[in-house]
Amino acid sequence: MEALFSSPEIWREFFETYYQHELNRLADAVISLDGAERSVYVDFLRDLAIFREGRLAEELLENPDRVISDASKGIEFAYNIHDVRLEKCQARFTNLPPTRRILIRDLRSEHVSKFISIEGIVRKVTEVRPKIVRAAYVCTSCRAEVMVEQDDNFLKQPYECKKCQARQRFILLPEKSEKIDSQRIKIQEYPENLRGGEQPQTIDVFLEGDLTGRINPGDRVVVNGIVRARVRGLGGKKIPHMDIFIDGNSIEILQQEYEEFEITEEDKKKILELSEDPGIYSRIVGSIAPVIYGYETIKLAIALQLFGGVPKKLPDGTEIRGDIHILLVGDPGVAKSQMLRYVHRIAPRSVYTTGKGTTSAGLTATATRDEIDGRWTLEAGALVLADKGVALVDEIDKMRAEDRSALHEAMEQQTISVAKAGINAMLRSRCALLGAANPKYGRFDLFSPLVEQIDLSPTLLSRFDLIFVMTDEPDRERDKLLATHILDTHELGEKLEMMKNLASSEVKPTEIEMRKIEPSIEPELLRKYIAYAKRTVFPVLTSEAKERIIDFYIGLRDSSKNSSVTITARQLEALVRLAEASARLRLSDRVTSEDVDRVIEIFRRSLEQIALNPETGEIDIDYGFTGTSKTQRDRIFTIKKIVEDLEKSKEYPKGVPEEEILKRAEEKGIEYAKAKEALYKMKEMGELYSPRPNFFRVVHNY
Ligand SMILES: [Zn+2]
Repeated sequence: MEALFSSPEIWREFFETYYQHELNRLADAVISLDGAERSVYVDFLRDLAIFREGRLAEELLENPDRVISDASKGIEFAYNIHDVRLEKCQARFTNLPPTRRILIRDLRSEHVSKFISIEGIVRKVTEVRPKIVRAAYVCTSCRAEVMVEQDDNFLKQPYECKKCQARQRFILLPEKSEKIDSQRIKIQEYPENLRGGEQPQTIDVFLEGDLTGRINPGDRVVVNGIVRARVRGLGGKKIPHMDIFIDGNSIEILQQEYEEFEITEEDKKKILELSEDPGIYSRIVGSIAPVIYGYETIKLAIALQLFGGVPKKLPDGTEIRGDIHILLVGDPGVAKSQMLRYVHRIAPRSVYTTGKGTTSAGLTATATRDEIDGRWTLEAGALVLADKGVALVDEIDKMRAEDRSALHEAMEQQTISVAKAGINAMLRSRCALLGAANPKYGRFDLFSPLVEQIDLSPTLLSRFDLIFVMTDEPDRERDKLLATHILDTHELGEKLEMMKNLASSEVKPTEIEMRKIEPSIEPELLRKYIAYAKRTVFPVLTSEAKERIIDFYIGLRDSSKNSSVTITARQLEALVRLAEASARLRLSDRVTSEDVDRVIEIFRRSLEQIALNPETGEIDIDYGFTGTSKTQRDRIFTIKKIVEDLEKSKEYPKGVPEEEILKRAEEKGIEYAKAKEALYKMKEMGELYSPRPNFFRVVHNY
């Protein structure tokens, strides 16, 4: 064995010098039989690196197996207040030097058997299961028992019986074997560090003892441990290619939001300068997908989504999210997907996926049984991986059935509860969702209710703060600009010339401004700007802003006269979030009435697209979300009452005749044709049924 400075004695000295308090705490736990924690955490940079010229520190990195074993023995023999043996205690090491922080994709054979640290997001965890570390066997010839140390993934058997020399069969005694809790987790590179189209790389980490059961999918962690290589088996044969994994020694869970963004003093100066610019809104809008022409309202809404509102906790413990959810609905072929991909480039901590799911975990989370070891495994979906960021989901209407049911909780409470077999977990999904959906019947029809055109339930649709329609309707003036814009994108040299020509034509100045193709703010700076705003600015509504919101709220309620269900508290919350985001965008901690006006404009544009009742020309949210307008609902209510009353009169024991219903409806002012339409719609909705043709009865829900 290589001569090392490390020995149990020198480690004992180290622990007694720097970690006496920890040793005493551990001794207390041993005396009180509190089995939870059996580890001493050593701060590498703070303590180990300065002890004895850093020789132990250096040796730990190069010879971790031997050194960690010495350190654990050092703990065992060190003095503590109860003077008990601290058996089976583990030395764990955190806060390694940055030079030992290796990217998952850079792990190579040179790292095998070395102590390193990796950083990433937890993608999968298995359930915690006992693992045999010393197996007890009994010899079937002489009944002698023998213990065999286990250090591999395959169970080792004794070669021969030491007592009777038989080389026959041995029987494993699981209850007499020494076991330890074990768990396997999979770490993935941060999604935000991937350049377009790159597949994230992952690595397995094995955890034991008190490290197990503490990590959830979606956690951002630093894992410190020893790199191992394992020969891969292929159809019963072993092949020389090796798999790399990590034996975890310690895990640090990262708490701080956006800490991966380093914002220098110089960055801060630029950010503050930018926030003072009176044109900051149009500059940020101009930096979102500048290659896509137009759609300013949608881009402004997305800009607000990137900044987000302020999450709140009510006195009764209810949490209100600050994240803003947006849905883009549109004809296939319009720029929806491109918009999502562009936002992926500028949004900190964003995850891009499609509803169909490129991964097995889909949008929320999946519990599956592992093919190899049969363990239940919990895997994080896109909304968990995007925790504290933005989830970009293309073709959200094609999502899996299990995601449909889990998405309500994921979007509103921002949690995902999983209770399946050995797994009970609550994952966090504190992210904004930007989704895109295609209309069911090819093109979007502005004159049909939204809900009938998208394969998403009304309750799910109502979780979105804003829904926009991106149609590609023919419009000569717009087409001309669009064509020019596309040409510009390809021939940047001619851009200025064309802008001059356009400027001399009848185009409005705002449209000219929107034609800029270079992003107004560099993506790198914009990402930092957003991260800085979310980290430091928490706007509060001024009293003028509150009044303005209330006026708008009441105004909308009036526009849908005596309706009891139209504008909901949900929409009110959305308005507040958007207004807060508007203040945050210019780094202001006060939400002003201008912010509210800006947001109302966006909100109204969204409602006009999705909730305009063509029959009345008014905004009717129920019409958009349920396909039934206020007037239709009133009719349905009246007709249902008519059928109920006639049923009660016992005059029609075999169902109420259609003609009788329509006659009474006409008496109550409902046109014959409209009444008939409503009658058949009610049958379709399951409110009425026909015992025989042209007769109706009410369906009673018990
Ligand atoms: Zn024997």
